[in-house]
Amino acid sequence: MTQQHPVYRKIVVKVGTNVITGRDGRLDPAILDSLTGQIAALSARGIEVILVSSGAVGAGRGIVQLTGSLTPVETRQVMAATGQIRLINAYSDRFEKHGMLAAQILVTKGDFRDRQHYLNMRTCFRALLQQKIVPIVNENDAVAVTELMFTDNDELSGLIASMMQVDAHIILSNIDGLFDLSGETRRVISEVDPSSKNFSQYIRPTKSEFGRGGMLTKCNIAHKLSRLGITVHIANGMTPGILQSIVAGEPVGTRFLPQKSKHGIKRWIAHSEGLEKGAVVINEGAIAALSATDHASSLLPVGITAVQGSFSKGDIIRVCAEDGSVVGYGMATCNDEKARATLGQKGHKPVIHYDYLYIVP
Ligand code: GLU
Repeated sequence: MTQQHPVYRKIVVKVGTNVITGRDGRLDPAILDSLTGQIAALSARGIEVILVSSGAVGAGRGIVQLTGSLTPVETRQVMAATGQIRLINAYSDRFEKHGMLAAQILVTKGDFRDRQHYLNMRTCFRALLQQKIVPIVNENDAVAVTELMFTDNDELSGLIASMMQVDAHIILSNIDGLFDLSGETRRVISEVDPSSKNFSQYIRPTKSEFGRGGMLTKCNIAHKLSRLGITVHIANGMTPGILQSIVAGEPVGTRFLPQKSKHGIKRWIAHSEGLEKGAVVINEGAIAALSATDHASSLLPVGITAVQGSFSKGDIIRVCAEDGSVVGYGMATCNDEKARATLGQKGHKPVIHYDYLYIVP
């Protein structure tokens, strides 16, 4: 079953070490040019992008000549602390060429455990996006050791995707997607339904060459996020124009379909400002009923005082107060003619059902 391709307004793009570093472990300028160019183009179209990039340890490996003996933990800390500067500069310089600013956010698992830290992080991301600055996130590998460590950056980016309630989480790796290994020929699976739990038939138990992540974590995270109504894509970051293709809904890589939860549709409606076809004006009583936090109410014709514009059943419409201020957005259950015919009257079906109504906070 193919779902209609949704419009993406806010996305997390996760880039793996193997995408941006060559065989010698050095950062690959051509790939970085390509990825930053694609992100700049998406951003010019008004799509908010949070970039989660691995590659600090990889970049460090490409430049540090270790002397003396270090433990594996110390080695990783030295590589990461050194490589992260290269990594962030490589991105920042390129975004600047597109007239954009980039910001660095380094986090540890602990930042997600503490509610206050979590909220601080969210505030920071929101503020950066509002300023049209690209947040570039990585784990703070220099200090994240043992229990403070994420399994990998797939886990980290998944947490950010859910914290920021994005529309899509795009995982760019050096493979084309999830392969169906059941048949004779290897074939990329274009869609995975979140209700199917058994991924093992598609996954080889190998890990990526330099990065920490493997296919299994990617799939588990994809599974989790799709249940939150977030679409997940796994695709090859080396394919030219891959982000544009994904956003345009082309059949590239593997797409984990979001579960059509109420939550998901409401979130989509919440992002529908500017897409609405018409509007309804409602009275004070209706505003009070819709804004009540202890129960959910549908918008009934009795509370409507005017209907504006022309819309069809299923279109998004704006809900306004008498003074024109926006109360919310919702999906109309009828067209504008029917809404006009019943406005102000009791005993009619809702014009917007509460499952499809989003009240502006
Ligand atoms: N944070 C690590 C780095 O930047 C990568 C972790 C991962 O491979 O997922 O090198």
